[in-house]
Amino acid sequence: MSTKRNNPETIAIHGGDYKSDPVTNAVAVPIYRTTSYQFNNTEHAANLFALKEFGNIYTRIMNPTNDVLEKRVAALEGGLSCVTVSSGQTASSFAILNVAQAGDNIVSSTDLYGGTVSLFTHTLSKLGIEIRYADPSDPKNFEKMVDDKTRAFYGETLPNPYLRVFPIKEVSDIGRKYNIPLIMDNTASPVICKPIEHGAAIVIHSLTKYIGGHGTAVAGSIVDSGNFDWTADPKRQPLFNEPDASYGGVIWGKAVPELTGANVPFAVRARVCLLRDLGSALAPDNAFAIIQGLETVALRMKQHCENAEKVVNFLKKHKEVTKVIYSTEHNKPIADRAKKYLKGGYGPMVGIELKGGIEAGKTFIESLKMFYHVANIGDVRSLAIHPASTTHSQLNEKELAASGVTQSYVRLCIGIEHVDDIIEDLNQALNKSSKGKLRAVS
Ligand code: PLP
Repeated sequence: MSTKRNNPETIAIHGGDYKSDPVTNAVAVPIYRTTSYQFNNTEHAANLFALKEFGNIYTRIMNPTNDVLEKRVAALEGGLSCVTVSSGQTASSFAILNVAQAGDNIVSSTDLYGGTVSLFTHTLSKLGIEIRYADPSDPKNFEKMVDDKTRAFYGETLPNPYLRVFPIKEVSDIGRKYNIPLIMDNTASPVICKPIEHGAAIVIHSLTKYIGGHGTAVAGSIVDSGNFDWTADPKRQPLFNEPDASYGGVIWGKAVPELTGANVPFAVRARVCLLRDLGSALAPDNAFAIIQGLETVALRMKQHCENAEKVVNFLKKHKEVTKVIYSTEHNKPIADRAKKYLKGGYGPMVGIELKGGIEAGKTFIESLKMFYHVANIGDVRSLAIHPASTTHSQLNEKELAASGVTQSYVRLCIGIEHVDDIIEDLNQALNKSSKGKLRAVS
């Protein structure tokens, strides 16, 4: 029997040091709806601002409700510190802005969420941060793009539409030769993958998805593993080794371990510089909603994955389905990565291609009765989308193929309903999919 409380089921409920509210003894985490915190005296205020003492200053930078969520997410990922932010998009933006400035570059996986591609290609590039794309099917592609301005590697554990599991250890090992940290977006695979155990330095989440689980709040998080030496090569990480004029000349890589006793300069800098300057704070009400979801994330991931595997087996035999895309349904070595990195399930997402092309894709979506037709992922409900007629409709045939989306590709996020009901809904919609157009999908 496990005696250490490091099981995800327990961490999700008890992780961090919150037992009950210190003032009221409330068991549920209270929503601290306050912007500000009374300083004890002028010395206390000065110490807080100088980081000589840690405590609440202003909710844009920290909040006691968010603090409980941060400690639990850090514990769940096996990291030392976490910063919550207003969305998953903010988490990925901050993760890059915390290591790179104009003139620097990041080497990123090609397999990414569309919003991340847009952020990288259209927004960060305008700020002078170059994103170089590497195909993760061969980890060596990352090494080929490194130069002395490369500040981080970036990947997604279980990216759709390809659903190819990222080679975390392989890419992290390459990065560590050059003192380059690996930032992993683990949004689609909390609990079933812990990227830090495989060498990732930073793990981000869109908490909006599986960790929240109920589709009721948008939120993001950045976890600092504490396992990366930011001072080993000062030229490689100038933001952690050069004096920061915005904070009295502090050198983050040295000051944070000295002040806190923990090697978490990435988390501290993201909080006290990026949240300070850019805002994007998580509202405590949303932190509360995410905490409710987090409590059951381990249970839900298990059910999502169990259902998804049964759905994959059903779909593989269906006459209207020409291809099933799933983390384990790839050629070697990609399929082996699912077994190496995912534990307790091979993921909640499934892709399918249909016999009847784009019209079949649309008709299938229109025919689903229980599944929701939404752009989101990671809800307790089963979700479906036909990218060629929606999220990817602006792309031409070539761009579609490059993004891994074919005309008939449908993305399914398998929910936690009874699997028989999920399969029944899929079956009746698939049987209608080849029967032509029902009505146009906007
Ligand atoms: N990362 C991944 C893998 C996502 O799927 C998403 C959203 O779909 C995001 C980041 C962005 O998250 P949010 O919608 O919370 O901003």
